[in-house]
Amino acid sequence: MATHITEDCINCGACEPECPNEAISEGDEIYVIDPELCTECVGFYDHEACQAVCPVECCLPDPKHVESEEVLLERALRLHPDDAKLKERAAANNYPSRFRKLAGPWCLFRSASPGLVQPFSVLWAAGEVFRCCTRLTWSPRGR
Ligand code: SF4
Ligand code: SF4
Repeated sequence: MATHITEDCINCGACEPECPNEAISEGDEIYVIDPELCTECVGFYDHEACQAVCPVECCLPDPKHVESEEVLLERALRLHPDDAKLKERAAANNYPSRFRKLAGPWCLFRSASPGLVQPFSVLWAAGEVFRCCTRLTWSPRGR
């Protein structure tokens, strides 16, 4: 989901220099974000840098541009072909991202080993069923 600027913008200009992709510019009436350049700061920060500095909180997720972390990272890599550090972080699957901040360790695990998620979920569900069944049929005093 690209970030967009709402009509509450007061044209202070604070967000423009913060963007790692130069996606923000002065529009006709208010500042605007080019969704083709916005990566929600994936690869650079664990939050949207424009949102963090906006004094009126008008840099918000754009529901018309919903995108996955993978798509946003690919865009960041495309926009910064000479950024060796970004490439290194992406290859090591160890880069800042608002998605990872939100989802924490589960998200890291899921992106690192997608093939393991399903079997783990099935094992967890089987364990829960077993736990419930043994609770129903067994009691320490034989009740
Ligand atoms: S969210 Fe990040 S990449 Fe997108 S416009 Fe704001 S500062 Fe730039
Ligand atoms: S920081 Fe907020 S108010 Fe200032 S120009 Fe950017 S979007 Fe507009």
